[in-house]
Amino acid sequence: MSPIFTEISSLSAPRPALFFDRDGTLMKEVDHCHRPEEVHAIEGAAELLAKTREQGWLHVIITNQSGIGRGYFTKKEFDAVQEELQRQLNGLIDGVYMSPDMPGSNSMRRKPAPGMLVEAAKDFNIDLSRSIMIGDRASDIEAGRAAGCLTILVLTGYGKEHRDCGADFIAEDVTEALKWILEELKK
Ligand SMILES: [Mg+2]
Repeated sequence: MSPIFTEISSLSAPRPALFFDRDGTLMKEVDHCHRPEEVHAIEGAAELLAKTREQGWLHVIITNQSGIGRGYFTKKEFDAVQEELQRQLNGLIDGVYMSPDMPGSNSMRRKPAPGMLVEAAKDFNIDLSRSIMIGDRASDIEAGRAAGCLTILVLTGYGKEHRDCGADFIAEDVTEALKWILEELKK
């Protein structure tokens, strides 16, 4: 295979992604967070995301926001929070998928359903079988597992209440999860 052909085929090959829950995982848990000043990214996450990006991982947020469906806050307020988180994470988030659906709505998108991960996989040409879902609730882990990803539970946010969810790995917080990925899954 010529070097040029190798380069072209690797450009079109499906990529692995790190899927992140947002609240309680990438940033401190705030119930129905809808104000930029309430956004506090987990300390040290931005530096490690720079390293996972270097290794070729895509970074995609998968977040349930039933507060929108319930009328507690607007999509515009969600976007402002998102923008502030992206700023604190040095612009290292590649995509954001949000479900405003309410619990019990039979949604195909709201976690624990895997719909948003499948959507992202189509949009970004992601190889789900080489991807990882990181979150603080059983519903994050279930969604990741249903999509065929490896799963990591973090003990920030609601994580301590969801230890028994059957995640493949449990990390103190997202920085420990990212360090584990960088060390154990070296490419
Ligand atoms: Mg969460």
